[in-house]
Amino acid sequence: MATRKPAKKVVKFARKPGDGSKWLRPSKRIAIYARDGGCVYCGKTAESGAQLTVDHIVASVDGGSNADDNLVTACMGCNAAKGKRSPSQWRTHAATKGIVFSWSDIRRQARKPLDRAAALRVLADRKVARLAA
Ligand SMILES: [Zn+2]
Repeated sequence: MATRKPAKKVVKFARKPGDGSKWLRPSKRIAIYARDGGCVYCGKTAESGAQLTVDHIVASVDGGSNADDNLVTACMGCNAAKGKRSPSQWRTHAATKGIVFSWSDIRRQARKPLDRAAALRVLADRKVARLAA
């Protein structure tokens, strides 16, 4: 019996480590960080050492869009803890961790216009090393 090489196992990751941001242009990501100033849930900032991410208020799996007003800044910890919870589930869960926020405040924050020109200047300055690129 002829030996055949086993078929190459192809493992595809939805996201490679450190490659989690390709769904959003860097300028828009930075504009969202600049609009929100830090995690909309717990208030941590890049300056305080938090690694910031962009979070969907309504998850994309639940039909949430990539529109500016569905995207907010969240620290890695809150984003991971939120996971696939609905907005109301996440608010309830966060409260058990001592993280208290108001969805109406966050939605109001998310409706503020993005300053893409400022974001592009920040990107050009390369002052964003601490932000998830
Ligand atoms: Zn947070």
